[in-house]
Amino acid sequence: MVVNRKLAGWATAFIFLAFSCAGCSTTEKQEPYTARDFKLDTEIIITIEDSQAPKICSHILQRITQIEKKMTLFSNDSEIARLNAQAGLKSVEVSTDTHYVLSRAVFISTLTQGAYDPTIGPLVKLWDIGSGLATVPSATGIQKAKALVDYKSLQINNDSGPSVLVTRPGQVVDLGGIAKGYAGDEAKRILLEHGVLRGIINLGGNVMAIGSKKDGSPWRVGIQNPLAPRGTYLGIVYVTDKAVVTSGGYERYFIKDGRRYHHIIDPATGYPADNSLISVTVVTKMGIDADALSTGAYVLGLTEGMKLIDSLDGVEAIFVTNDKKVYISQGLKNNYFQLTDEDFSYDE
Ligand code: ADP
Ligand code: MG
Repeated sequence: MVVNRKLAGWATAFIFLAFSCAGCSTTEKQEPYTARDFKLDTEIIITIEDSQAPKICSHILQRITQIEKKMTLFSNDSEIARLNAQAGLKSVEVSTDTHYVLSRAVFISTLTQGAYDPTIGPLVKLWDIGSGLATVPSATGIQKAKALVDYKSLQINNDSGPSVLVTRPGQVVDLGGIAKGYAGDEAKRILLEHGVLRGIINLGGNVMAIGSKKDGSPWRVGIQNPLAPRGTYLGIVYVTDKAVVTSGGYERYFIKDGRRYHHIIDPATGYPADNSLISVTVVTKMGIDADALSTGAYVLGLTEGMKLIDSLDGVEAIFVTNDKKVYISQGLKNNYFQLTDEDFSYDE
């Protein structure tokens, strides 16, 4: 049985939940409703205002459970587990969900030139970070696993129904870097379907800020200080109807001989991404893109990562380096991001 903490998630951003506002009518007495659950290996928190809120939240949580069932590697009968079991053997029919997520995963892999790669599975399994049993694998083990990582070898078809072939034996698809993003998009879709136009869905730090606050002002989403305890923010990003997703090496890792080994693996080296970055936050419309791009940009590093983000329309990012410098993409420069922790500073 594959027991890896794949769809892992940790709080990396949080929200100032001021639904109310000075300009709002006091006769509107609707209180925000919060639903919490643990899914996709992370804490899910949904906060909305609606008379039907409990019903809508339960609908969303059911949908997230459905996505988890299809994409998890914790269970042998998820679609992804079945896909992996047939690696090198035969094509497997999948749902439109899995087909879509894998197609988008491959698209982001192309954008990031393989820094984000959904076939990272053999390396993730080998490192087993987060299991509590992790050790540094042998160099030959890493080389062997690395040789299996290749998003280009996935054959994603939709001729007679959606299907996927993992072409090489031993290859392992792992959607841990993208599934929460998709779940966020689906959660948002359900809210909109029910006529709920504003709210916050937090999937372990993958934040979907839907619409704006009641008074029309943007949501304020705190960006975790990667060097401080969870809940300590270094700055605030102001967003309307955006996903805010952070990847970092600071919450899921082990230390061996004074070195920190974290859970975001560089497919080019087979080792945890090792550059000056300690976190990358991506801000864009779709959660699925924000999730995969934050993982990819973290692997690419500051220079290449920022170059990519600045080349993409409607995608912004905040990069934090280990010397406590903060770098923001062009589109955040007009007061959309506020650095609040004096320990950190900007670097041009
Ligand atoms: P988290 O899920 O912890 O919020 P990420 O979105 O960055 O953070 O996803 C990390 C997860 O993605 C890992 O646990 C692993 O399952 C998977 N992963 C690790 N490295 C890569 C990579 N280079 N490309 C794609 N997925 C990756
Ligand atoms: Mg990700």
